[in-house]
Formats: sequence, structure tokens, C-alpha cells
Amino acid sequence: MSSKKKVLVRECLRYDPQAIEKITREGLEEFGLNHKIQGKITIKPNVVVAHPKIAPSAFTRPEFISGLLQALQKGKNGDSTIVIAEKCGVGIPTSRMFRRAGYHKLKKNHQVKILPTEESRKKTVSLRRGKIHENITTAREILDRDFLIYTPKLKSNCLTHGLTAAVKLNMGLFLDKKRMWNHNFNLDEKIVDSLEIGSPDFIATDAIEISIGGNHITQHGRQLGLIIMADNVIAHDVVCAHIFHLDPRKIHHLRLAQERGYGLLNLEGIEIKGDVSLEEIRTKTKGWKTGFKRVDQVDCGMKILSGEPYCTGGCHGVFLDWLYMIKDRKPKLWKNLPPWTVVIGKYKGDVQAERLMIIGSCSEIQGKVKARKRRKIRGCPPRHKDLVLWMFLKTGVLNPLFRLDLIIDAYPFLFFSWCKRLLTGRF
Ligand code: SF4
Repeated sequence: MSSKKKVLVRECLRYDPQAIEKITREGLEEFGLNHKIQGKITIKPNVVVAHPKIAPSAFTRPEFISGLLQALQKGKNGDSTIVIAEKCGVGIPTSRMFRRAGYHKLKKNHQVKILPTEESRKKTVSLRRGKIHENITTAREILDRDFLIYTPKLKSNCLTHGLTAAVKLNMGLFLDKKRMWNHNFNLDEKIVDSLEIGSPDFIATDAIEISIGGNHITQHGRQLGLIIMADNVIAHDVVCAHIFHLDPRKIHHLRLAQERGYGLLNLEGIEIKGDVSLEEIRTKTKGWKTGFKRVDQVDCGMKILSGEPYCTGGCHGVFLDWLYMIKDRKPKLWKNLPPWTVVIGKYKGDVQAERLMIIGSCSEIQGKVKARKRRKIRGCPPRHKDLVLWMFLKTGVLNPLFRLDLIIDAYPFLFFSWCKRLLTGRF
């Protein structure tokens, strides 16, 4: 028997639930998982953010989940309950994102429970191999299940060296407080810690329309027309990295996962099956840029000075995300960004600027400073929503995520969600 890990890549050109059902049913069969379709089944999608105008391509589409649910319904072996569990981006109630993504409509045609992780009954698991986390608290439905299915959205992400796929989906296991804790130069170790509990039995990735090129929540979608299936997160992500023309060894959470014994990154150890070859896909994606670069190399109206530590997953990455949000969704503003000088990290050198912004609690200038206006945004790193708000209040730049409907989600609805959790004892 071959010791190679298997990844199945199937062509699927449209969000047609019937076609998705057939493909995922064949995938479950290919991986010999039909016997697992019973008991407590949990599906974890990517619903980090969903918005028809500024984030239409950032989440696993409900039609995709609908096709998978049909496949599970037809293949089930006995009584089963199906839960879709997710925690969206920090500082927003997941219930709002589920609604915006159209997940509540799934309940009309399928017997399924939609569960925001923060509203679930929680369980804490001690980690034996954690480097950043000693334990992780998440939904019981994710931990105590018979069959765990991940349904990521294939996207580029400049906070994680260019790729968001199955391994990074584990960030949705963390509740807000722990999610932002060590979301800095330690982000990659943090992601690998989560592999101890976040190891799905089956992965079916929505790569029908992917998003690539800027901020993973605001970038525009591109048609790739694929469903990628696997039963091993590392092998799955190695193939996804190659689809994006990325070297998996340079994606630090994958490199660290290999070093910590979770799997190997060589393509030769993976059997790729399906109806479209990796070469054909790579020919199609040739020239598609992931947008991953150093923040001080971005060519824009602001001057960015970077010091140590360089936090790809922290201030540097979050500010790069903030810039990309404007580039992706406000091209006119992008061309006319006001000429602030932005310092991130401990910058060694003198700085002379009209308007100076320092981002990050640890950030400072180790040299002489001459500036007419000087502002600072704290946080390690600042959360995306805080950066959007404070950059508006301190510089007047209106990021596309600064919208009334999202502000209502992020403040009044978040408050209601806390009240609900307090009343139900599920804080
Ligand atoms: S404050 Fe920012 S730059 Fe400093 S360690 Fe934290 S994330 Fe990194």
C-alpha cells in the first residue's frame, strides 16, 4: 500500500449544489470515509467576513455547503446531527457574518444547526505540544464529534506568507481573546499549536471562485473552478501553495508544522488525483499575484518605515492589510493617499516628517524625530477594526471597511451577542 498522502482535485465551474454534491460524494468515497457519515458531524467553513459589497469572495459559499450537505444526507449510515460551527473575524459576532453569508437559508432545505462558536458550550483542551498555547478553548461540537469536515475557501493572505487554506482555518477555533494573543511574530507557531486539536477527517475546499491578490477579506474573486479534497491538512495545503506558485517551505506555518512532525512538504510524497492536473492549474494561475510582500515595499502615497521585530502576522501584516483594503476597494483613494510617514516596529534612524503615525505598542523611533503632527495607534497588533477606526479618527482616511452596517455589526450587535452569552451562561 502506498504511503503517499492523497489530494483529489476536481473541476467544478459553477456554484451548482447538484454538481458539488456529486463531486464531494465521490470524494468521500475516494477517501474511504462513507462509514464516518453518522453520529455527530461538524462542518467548519471559512466565514471570516462576508459582505456583498466589500467582501463578496472571502467566505465558503452556502451553495458549496448545500452540495456537501446533500452528499452527506445521501451517504449517511444511520442517525446523525450536523452542525456548522465557525468563529468569524475578531470583534464581530459570527451570527451576523453567517447571516450576511446566507447560511441561515441552509436551514430551509437541510437539517442543520448553524453555530457561532462563541455562543456554543465550550470545552478546554490541554495541549501536549503547544509552544504558544498551553490549552485551547473552543466549541464542544468541534472537539466531541464523530466526523469533522473542514470546508475552507482558497485565498491568499499576506498575514500568513501568501496562503489561507486548511491549516490556517484553525484560527477560527480560537475565541476572540486568545485569537489576538500573540498574533504577532508568533502567529505561525500559534497556528501550528492549533493542529493538535484541529485535524479534520475530511477537507473539501471551495476553490470554485478564489480570492487572491490583496487583503483576503476585500480582494476581488477570480474563477478557478476547482474543488480540492483531502484527508490530511498538510498535504492539502502543499498542493494549494503550488497552485499559487508559492514554495510551501517559505510559508512559515507549513514549515513549522513539518518541523514539529505534522507532515512533509515535498510534493513527491503526495498523490494528486482528479480530472485536472496541477500543471494545467498552474498554467492558469501563472502571473496571479498573492500580494504578499514587505509592507515597506508597497508603492503608495504613504512612506512606511519598518523596524524590528518584523511581524508578518502582527502590525506589519495588519497595516499591509489596511493598505490593501483601500487598493482593492477604493482605487481613487489609493492613488491619493495623504502623505503620512508610518513607523512600524523599532525603527533605527532619524525621522523627519510633516505627519507621523506610529503603529504598534512596541513601536518607536530610535533616533531624532522632527514632525509637525505625531500620532500613535497601540495594540500588539491593533485589531483590524480598531486600525480602521483609529486611522479614520487620527488621519481622516476612510477605509472601505468603515461602513455603517459593519459598525452596527461590530458594536451594538456585538454588545447584544455578549448579553445573550451572559444570559445563557456561554461566555
Ligand atoms: S506591537 Fe506590533 S510590531 Fe511590536 S511585537 Fe506587537 S505586533 Fe509586533
